[in-house]
Amino acid sequence: KAKEAGKGSYMIYGQEMQQYFDERMIIENHLRSAVSNNELSLHYQPLVDTGTGELWGFEALIRWNSPVLGFVSPLSFIRIAEDCRLIVPIGEWVLRAACRFTKDLQNQGYEGYHISVNISVIQLMLDDFTEMVLSVLEDTGLAPEYLELEITESIFMESFEAISSKLEALKERGIGIALDDFGTGYSSLSYLKQLPITTLKIDKSFIDSIDTPNNRSLASSIVTIGHDMGLNVTAEGVETPEQLAFLERTRCDKIQGYYISKPIPEKEVAGWVAGRMAG
Ligand code: C2E
Ligand code: MG
Ligand code: MG
Ligand code: MG
Repeated sequence: KAKEAGKGSYMIYGQEMQQYFDERMIIENHLRSAVSNNELSLHYQPLVDTGTGELWGFEALIRWNSPVLGFVSPLSFIRIAEDCRLIVPIGEWVLRAACRFTKDLQNQGYEGYHISVNISVIQLMLDDFTEMVLSVLEDTGLAPEYLELEITESIFMESFEAISSKLEALKERGIGIALDDFGTGYSSLSYLKQLPITTLKIDKSFIDSIDTPNNRSLASSIVTIGHDMGLNVTAEGVETPEQLAFLERTRCDKIQGYYISKPIPEKEVAGWVAGRMAG
């Protein structure tokens, strides 16, 4: 009996694996031509300075509209792009497009706006990552203090020394380094102290449950810890006025979420900014 069950589950496992590989192959094949075919675009989600209510800038979020597959979520294709290393050209394209876009906004009179860009561990492991970032800044003319890179804790599980020194070098130039999805990884607090970061981004899961007292104290503790360590703290996934009010009281520095705005297609950003300033 046990043997039968074992065999059965092996077969199911095999089928699921096959399905995953089939889907992966399809996505990988179409993704390969997506950059040159202009199928990738960026949406920009506003981040607001909680203290002043002013717009700090935007997070660039990739979108893929494939003529064959339709809209594919980054949650499904980024992982595949990492596995087949297509994230290297795609990631550079994102950085360049986002910096150029921000410099254009600044040229139009929105001088203080920043841009935050998600960076994959595969990119950070490249020897020339630092040079790549600096050359994108030079080419686009964006000053380093307006760029923030978003990384996740998993990055430091790869090769801590090599990656930290690259981030440290970029930080010294004035580039911000944000630890994304903070609270979902495994870092201990003493480990956190060694990371060359400037900002903690509290994961949406802690913001969602601000309505329940226990989790509420978790969110405010993260803000306190971040501040004690001399870091800025951003809350992601803010959806309600109650969450915003709580985060204001805890002096969280920046907020991002549907309550402010969903990610905005590039072409609509200037209109959104103008509307916000008018109203
Ligand atoms: P992330 O960096 O943590 O980005 C935040 C995600 O939460 C985005 O999903 C955003 O649309 C969503 N979000 C923001 N506010 C709210 C809210 O109030 N409610 C809800 N329900 N969701 C909210 P998105 O755009 O689907 O991106 C998913 C993930 O894909 C990102 O998570 C990031 O890890 C990755 N990603 C996106 N663009 C890039 C990129 O250019 N490069 C890399 N390496 N990863 C990217
Ligand atoms: Mg992010
Ligand atoms: Mg995030
Ligand atoms: Mg997240």
